[in-house]
Amino acid sequence: MKCTYNFSAGPALLPKSVMLRAQAEMLDWHGSGMSVMEMSHRGKHYMSIIDKVESDFRSLFNVPKNYKVLFLQGGAIAQNSMVPLNLLNGKKANYVVSGYWSKRSYQDALPFGDMTIAASSEAIGYAKAPDPKDWKIDPSAAYVHFCSNETIHGVEYFDMPSIKTIPVVADMSSHILSRPVDISQFGVIYAGAQKNIGPAGLTIVIVRDDLLDVASPLTPSVFNWKTQVENQSMINTPTTYSIYIAGLVFEWLIELGGLEVIEKHNIKKAELLYGYIDSTDFYSNPIDIKNRSRMNVPFRIQNEDLHTSFVTGAENLGMIGLKGHRLVGGIRASIYNAMPIEGIQALVDYMKDFEKSH
Ligand SMILES: *Cc1c(COP(=O)(O)O)cnc(C)c1O
Repeated sequence: MKCTYNFSAGPALLPKSVMLRAQAEMLDWHGSGMSVMEMSHRGKHYMSIIDKVESDFRSLFNVPKNYKVLFLQGGAIAQNSMVPLNLLNGKKANYVVSGYWSKRSYQDALPFGDMTIAASSEAIGYAKAPDPKDWKIDPSAAYVHFCSNETIHGVEYFDMPSIKTIPVVADMSSHILSRPVDISQFGVIYAGAQKNIGPAGLTIVIVRDDLLDVASPLTPSVFNWKTQVENQSMINTPTTYSIYIAGLVFEWLIELGGLEVIEKHNIKKAELLYGYIDSTDFYSNPIDIKNRSRMNVPFRIQNEDLHTSFVTGAENLGMIGLKGHRLVGGIRASIYNAMPIEGIQALVDYMKDFEKSH
């Protein structure tokens, strides 16, 4: 098989060892005579899988006891509506806009009530994330929402907000599990799986216990966090196979040494790529050094006409998924947990060659 490096933003690459294990277990999971895909979600085999997935996730991400973990469907986008439905309770909410995804969360929330923008970096092209110290928090609001890693614009929060007055809700879809996080600072964390966790279809939601009692009566039961908590994420059939694969990814991370270890890898990878971009005028990345995402690295070539041939040339060498998002153009390398440093080195070597020949 040709060696490829997949730089796609999501659905994204998975660790090779996880795929091989899934392949080995595909037809007969642990002597059950069934594929995980064929199991009843309430049967003893699957219950043992989901219990271990949850306990591994909790220990890996250090989830405190007073938080529930849910395995839902609908993607991060569904949570844009579920957050106000589950939390608003007739109050207002505050939104921080630091890129495409947080703006979309704000827009999706508008039909549910009075939403105010606590801070926005739209006017500066999202080049720098609004500092939590400058967020205008309304103490009577139900929550403040932000996106801790903007996948399209490549903007990441490293100093997470520490706000005591109202619950903080974070969309961590594209950098969850890339480093340790102090979960006690958050009311709700959610993430679609297809960036840094596993296959598409699964959405993980972490909710603090005291926030489970205020859902609007209009909340559909599948999207009511409390109902899902009471039914162990099984008010309907959960996305069983995606949850199983996510569990294999958690085991892979635990064996690697956990999030402190993966964070070190991720820092090295990001430094290698940004370091090269900054060393030449041929390529550029516009994001403030303090907010440059370790997971999604958008960059441009000075001569914009070269983007297409850059992407095609990379594909010919087995480096796929480098085309920038259609909204911003240019090039984007998504370098999630499963991307080995060899992939970044191959990309940087190609960037050097491309620069020389153009
Ligand atoms: C990909 C992404 C989404 C959208 O996720 P879906 O699973 O398509 O709903 C939302 N927020 C962020 C930060 C993302 O990266």
